[in-house]
Amino acid sequence: MSTIKVAINGYGNLGRGVEKAIAHAKDMELVAVFTRRDPESVTTQGAPVVSLDDVDAWADKVDVVVNCGGSATDLHVQTPIIAKKFNVVDSFDTHAKIPEHFEEVNKAAEGGSNLALISGGWDPGFFSLLRVYGAAFLPESDVYTFWGPGLSQGHSDAVRRIEGVKKGVQYTIPVEEARQRILGGEHAELTVREKHERVVYLVAEDGADKDKIRDEIVNMPNYFDEYNTTVNFISDAEFDAEHTGMPHGGDVIRLGKTSEGVQHVIHFNLKLDSNPEFTGSVLVACARAVVRMNAEGAQGAITLFDVPPAKLHPATPAELRAHML
Ligand code: NDP
Repeated sequence: MSTIKVAINGYGNLGRGVEKAIAHAKDMELVAVFTRRDPESVTTQGAPVVSLDDVDAWADKVDVVVNCGGSATDLHVQTPIIAKKFNVVDSFDTHAKIPEHFEEVNKAAEGGSNLALISGGWDPGFFSLLRVYGAAFLPESDVYTFWGPGLSQGHSDAVRRIEGVKKGVQYTIPVEEARQRILGGEHAELTVREKHERVVYLVAEDGADKDKIRDEIVNMPNYFDEYNTTVNFISDAEFDAEHTGMPHGGDVIRLGKTSEGVQHVIHFNLKLDSNPEFTGSVLVACARAVVRMNAEGAQGAITLFDVPPAKLHPATPAELRAHML
């Protein structure tokens, strides 16, 4: 059987995570990395680097593209463009804008007879599946998602795009008191502000207006405006010493009942040493599913909700029934 030919579009943290994940997938090979930068300036682990302007020439050589641009400004532009020519997977994580992004990508992918999976990863993605499974299995229930403590790539990316920011990271911190209340079985009604706080560390460009940067961050719609956010300006040296790792994780907790006095708790916890490497691994499994489902005739946009689990795994359905059921 021939291997699935994958291209990565956008070579940042996530692009490098996807590259590592493909190296672990025996049924897949990385054939190219697409970039908006001068290809000469980008060094991969071996795959050829191609200018994004020249990707049309790769339409017959690539089975699926994994779009690894940022959600803040890249993916809503890039995924519809790529979906016209290729099967594609992205990790678009601006939850409030997912329906809009889905419609745009759906139009583009259907026009090109391609299949596009949007918002893969762990949240949105794996955590979304856990929320749906829990709600389907326990209709009388409430779900609570806590993120962190950890570094959010989407929020870090959004911070770095602000004028005057040289380097920046954003940590999402769950409010432990709220988390413990839920784990203790309390069906509490919590606002976003009561569940998480956001802490930003950044290095400003020389002469940048720090008050303006802080203001822009704390008021950024969808990203920061509904949270208590602390912005810390630090030196280059401190940033490099303390803030270059990318751990993350979180909890999906569902509290439910099936009859009076009969309670159930579903608690899923994720602890990730590397957010981009784990997200990359999920996206590569999604890419496998997209190629298989498109070969069976599926077109347009989908999310992980629409993917049968067996399509994500390289083994056959018979092997999965024998060993995983
Ligand atoms: P980066 O900032 O590292 O990369 C984003 C893009 O910027 C790259 O695709 C690349 O595009 C460009 N770029 C990267 N490095 C450089 C550089 N040195 N100079 C100039 N341009 C550069 O973002 P991340 O990879 O950390 O995150 C990407 C997105 O992944 C996030 O915005 C988030 O939305 C998503 N994500 C989703 C998750 C989920 O669970 N759904 C979890 C984690 C992340 P190019 O090569 O074209 O220049």
